[in-house]
Amino acid sequence: MSLAARKIRLLMQLRKAGINDTAVLSAIERVPRENFVPPSFRDQAYENIALPIGQGQTLSQPEVVALMTQALELTKRHTVLEIGTGSGYQACVLAHLSRRVYTIERHRSLLEEATARISELRLHNVMTRLGDGSRGWPETRKFDRIIVTCAAEFPPEPLLEQLGEDGTMILPVGGQGRTQELVRLKRVGEGIERKELGIVRFVPLVSDENSGKGQRRTG
Ligand code: SAH
Repeated sequence: MSLAARKIRLLMQLRKAGINDTAVLSAIERVPRENFVPPSFRDQAYENIALPIGQGQTLSQPEVVALMTQALELTKRHTVLEIGTGSGYQACVLAHLSRRVYTIERHRSLLEEATARISELRLHNVMTRLGDGSRGWPETRKFDRIIVTCAAEFPPEPLLEQLGEDGTMILPVGGQGRTQELVRLKRVGEGIERKELGIVRFVPLVSDENSGKGQRRTG
């Protein structure tokens, strides 16, 4: 079966799984997932499975990418922050649906490969950056949407601070080897509204504080 035929089959599977936002489906259709996986996994690029991308990290299952993207309820006016660039695939899907995407990755090699793929696709509205995303984007600013593609025990405080008015954040919450819950946090006035979206499994968010080799944050 050709990659094109496999892609159509995947889009049908996503519809069946409850992805009904046509803008999300067409963004997924437009991003060549085969560009984001190692050559030996190319023929599996449109299977509904997570795939390895090196450094012990994984490109999430298409259904999970679609579910998280749909839950963000993006418009072309939104600026989005992604923690965990990985292969760059999710960032490219977001780029088709929003005004600007800011994405942070802590592995230099993954970030360099992702940045090359993003520019090859001429997605000029994606800004990439090396660093610990649990501290938020280094320049203080607010984002309309935040998506975290690695799991933390609790939502990092700097990310909550960078979530703008009426902002939405989607993130997996929970430890490794334990159940992780995909959570949607919405800023409503002074408060935060929380909704659980289902069970997921992500690689861990590794922050400078818990990796044991970074400097401590002060102040
Ligand atoms: N969104 C990615 C999937 C990423 S897998 C894609 O579409 O391919 C999760 C990624 O989060 C890994 O690449 C991992 O290195 C990264 N990560 C983990 N902790 C991080 C942190 N504190 N800051 C930035 N990136 C982090």
